[in-house]
Amino acid sequence: MRKFIVAGNWKMNTTVPQGVELAKAVAEKSKSLPANVKLIVAPPFTHLVSVALELKGSDVALSAQNCADKEKGAYTGEVAADMLASAGCTYTILGHSERRQYYGETDAKLVEKVKLALANALDVILCVGENLKEREDGKHFEVVTEQIKNVLYNFTEEDMAHVVIAYEPVWAIGTGKTATAEQAEEIHACIRGVIEQKFGKKVAEDTTILYGGSCKPSNAKELFAQPDIDGGLIGGAALKADDFIAIAQSF
Ligand code: PEP
Repeated sequence: MRKFIVAGNWKMNTTVPQGVELAKAVAEKSKSLPANVKLIVAPPFTHLVSVALELKGSDVALSAQNCADKEKGAYTGEVAADMLASAGCTYTILGHSERRQYYGETDAKLVEKVKLALANALDVILCVGENLKEREDGKHFEVVTEQIKNVLYNFTEEDMAHVVIAYEPVWAIGTGKTATAEQAEEIHACIRGVIEQKFGKKVAEDTTILYGGSCKPSNAKELFAQPDIDGGLIGGAALKADDFIAIAQSF
């Protein structure tokens, strides 16, 4: 069954005490949500253990923002998938456009990361999306299709039960520009079609596809009303518990 998800990507924001406070507020306010809406928070690595303790007993899941493409060893500064699982994560975001843009994350590296995440019982939120130039050149369907094929076509139907896709047009991230509900829906439908081509209709129907890019309480309702948009990956608005919960109440 497809899940409805609202995931908060805190990026490089908050100190540990601020993050714990935010998690506490999210957990408390999440009690008002319908049972079919899943909340996930993705704090920085340094916060994970403390936030996991704060979330204990709530239905809010914990995600990392990235994981290493290696299992363990001499990779200074990296954090491995099994470390994330042992810290209390059940998800990790992978392939965020900021990682692709600033840290040279390639689709080939992402294949390794997804393998390690799944092998360590972490569900993956895989981000895809075109930049402004690609959108202006009319290449958005092509770019997103290639990103999905390059990474997910290396996995199995069973693996796909542990993968969530987040479509995030790069030009809409942190810019205040949101894709219109129609622009987002046509790409989401295309992504579902690309999943169907390889894994069949049932897997495609069961795959959760999130929208991300300046999603906020005022536009979430229209976006989430689209048949192929199953929730959101939220950046800026996830840093305020009230806004984050208001977005989740938009289903
Ligand atoms: C994001 O970075 O995943 C994101 C969607 O950011 P924002 O909501 O701030 O555009």
